[in-house]
Amino acid sequence: MAYLDLSHLEKSFGTNRVVKDFTLGIEQGEFVSLLGPSGCGKTTVLRMVAGFEQPSGGQIIIGGEDVTRLRPNQRKIGMVFQAYALFPNLTVAENVGFGLKVAGMAAGERNERVTEMLALIGLPEKGGHYPFQLSGGQQQRVALARALAPRPKVLLLDEPLSALDAKVRVSLRNQIRQIQRDLGITTIFVTHDQEEAMSISDRIVVMNGGIAEQVGEPFTIYNQPATRFVANFVGTLNTFEAVVDEPTTGTVTLDGQTVSLGKKIERLRGDKVTLALRPEALHLGQAPAPAMQLQATVREVHFMGSIIRVKAEVADTMVSLDTFNRPDTPPPQVGAAIQVHLNPGDFIALDGTA
Ligand code: ATP
Repeated sequence: MAYLDLSHLEKSFGTNRVVKDFTLGIEQGEFVSLLGPSGCGKTTVLRMVAGFEQPSGGQIIIGGEDVTRLRPNQRKIGMVFQAYALFPNLTVAENVGFGLKVAGMAAGERNERVTEMLALIGLPEKGGHYPFQLSGGQQQRVALARALAPRPKVLLLDEPLSALDAKVRVSLRNQIRQIQRDLGITTIFVTHDQEEAMSISDRIVVMNGGIAEQVGEPFTIYNQPATRFVANFVGTLNTFEAVVDEPTTGTVTLDGQTVSLGKKIERLRGDKVTLALRPEALHLGQAPAPAMQLQATVREVHFMGSIIRVKAEVADTMVSLDTFNRPDTPPPQVGAAIQVHLNPGDFIALDGTA
């Protein structure tokens, strides 16, 4: 059994079944993200773990103890919310020490713990400040310190970065991850931002309509998406329509060319199939066989700094292609006819097609 074990969790609000047979084991010290679109049930799962929502079915075990029926304050869980949720009339130190005071910890020990927590979040000199004197990112660090001060068994983070601007978001997510690693605390992080989830997590749970569509490491989720939904939700996806020539060898016709995918296709000869490819697997210019060569017309060019995203029309389809910026090579021009190539082995399996 995993350290945090969610077993067949169910939650309905009236007739609306928002979490369906949700099972997940999280190891001690692991950082797991729940990723999915708005309304897919991420927050409801988190709130059930916290004890703010009673499951309609299933079980929650933490460290071998069944906590399903325990009140939130009996579960030894720390939680950070999207809004800063600090007490505005209390100082930073009083905010961090709040839970400890409620739990009856003596003043001396409490002060020591608060000092330790403020050092942990890199704000050792801010104890006497009030929340309004801090930036949004600093307030979230204080909220994190407050959640961690009672030394919880599990840390729950509900979109803690979404109210912050882009730069602060990235720096704070790295700090959260570092602190989480240093403490070795088991953590669930809720986000609808796929880049955020991929950059920070040991494993990601991609949720859709109340179910876990796929659970895996970011590398696997991105490169071997289990479903069409996961493939589309995580990252950008190009799709090409092809016709199966020989299922056993994975030979298809795409844009008038015969291509071997190098693996069996679970389809019949003559079937139409969709082949999917990430933007970074489509390359500018020509390449020797066995790469597949396609003609393209540039429709949009987005210079993004280290990456240039080119949108081009290929075989009657608009595709996205990512290429690294090279200071000595200007990006292609809109309207230009270009050659692109790809390695057929890079096609992503969708619905048993590749
Ligand atoms: P978001 O990213 O928008 O917060 P989410 O994936 O976290 O979305 P939830 O907040 O878990 O989704 O909500 C899942 C579904 O459950 C939604 O349809 C929502 O309207 C519904 N829901 C959540 N809480 C309640 C409630 N207390 N009463 C009724 N319906 C609710």
